[in-house]
Amino acid sequence: MSFTYRTGELCVEDVALSEIATRYGTPCYVYSRAAIESAYGEFARACAGRDALICYAVKANSNLAVLALLARLGAGFDIVSGGELARVLAAGGEAKKIVFSGVGKSAADMRLALQAGVLCFNVESEAELERLDAIARDMGVRAPVSLRVNPDVDAGTHPYISTGLKQNKFGIAIADAPRVYRKAAALSGLHITGMDVHIGSQITEIQPFVDALTRVLEFVDTLQTDGISLEHLDLGGGLGIRYRDETPPPVADYLAALFKTLGDARQRVLLEPGRALVGNAGVLLTSVEYLKRGEAKNFVIVDAAMNDLIRPALYEAWHGVLPLQETPPANTIAQHYDVVGPVCETGDFLAQDRLLAVQPGDRLAIMSAGAYGMVMSSNYNTRPRAAEVMVSGRTAHLVRRRETLAELFDSETVPIW
Ligand SMILES: *Cc1c(COP(=O)(O)O)cnc(C)c1O
Repeated sequence: MSFTYRTGELCVEDVALSEIATRYGTPCYVYSRAAIESAYGEFARACAGRDALICYAVKANSNLAVLALLARLGAGFDIVSGGELARVLAAGGEAKKIVFSGVGKSAADMRLALQAGVLCFNVESEAELERLDAIARDMGVRAPVSLRVNPDVDAGTHPYISTGLKQNKFGIAIADAPRVYRKAAALSGLHITGMDVHIGSQITEIQPFVDALTRVLEFVDTLQTDGISLEHLDLGGGLGIRYRDETPPPVADYLAALFKTLGDARQRVLLEPGRALVGNAGVLLTSVEYLKRGEAKNFVIVDAAMNDLIRPALYEAWHGVLPLQETPPANTIAQHYDVVGPVCETGDFLAQDRLLAVQPGDRLAIMSAGAYGMVMSSNYNTRPRAAEVMVSGRTAHLVRRRETLAELFDSETVPIW
């Protein structure tokens, strides 16, 4: 565990989080290098001896330091925009290890990715296939493509993070897939390289992954008879983590089940984990501004808000809340509180109904905030975005400085009426 109390102080690796809060201020995201390396190592070990590429889903946490760390470990990347492509390249990631996912790739982003020479485009519709073909021909290249197939499997996760159901916007219906593959094969700007399936996020059971893979494998052989052979199978991401009391399968078990389902399929395997690599490697530090006693509820008002971490507001997600000092301040009794931010929205809460013994000025860690935290932050209420710090052993590195107020509106102009 990278976040533990040592002599009463909540530490990340060998650094007390209170030191980081003092030095860099709050709100502040803090990541553990060792935690990311260890999570990546679990995937890498489970893939040992296989032709496999672990393509980290950049949208989970796209800080350059996180990307550079994973690139050094040998990871590939799953991107969803030209912006993420630029980040990965800036962080030292290799284009040849990048897969480009997403339902709405713009023409400009397709060109950037073709220029960079990405490993594969995960194509999600016929219209996208046609656009990619035209752009590739115009550039005089062949675009490597996988079709993202929607297997219509219920991942048993929050509806907003389910992607493999037929009512979702993602992928190509499994019934249509063979026909769309034949169409792709006939387009001279495309080169079919694989198949892709990704059914959602924060999935804590193995079975939906196995069901989805079983369904897509059913027609890999059919494609072969049509003369379409696949070089790789991209099994997507979506493995859940423990926020509270969830019991996601160990990475090794999850991958063993997928590999067993693959049987003697000889294709290279691609994986796209995001949350599982970084979710439990980060926390959000915040300071208590006020305690407020309401008629029905008590509130801890902190300096972090939904603009810093939107998951509770967006998905009613649960994050642990730990005080940086294990022992409560003297004469403080624990009470049930909602932990809320300063933003003018009732949905602006980070945690609800938690037993906490706190005083103004105390600092708290919002746990498991390494994935879909900073990346989803905004400037709502004209709040500067938080600083980000990466800890390695005894050393804390500022990997993104806090935004300044001036930066918040220096791209705006008032017309001269
Ligand atoms: C978001 C996403 C992922 C990563 O999902 P996690 O739940 O973070 O593992 C992988 N692949 C695609 C296509 C995605 O959209």
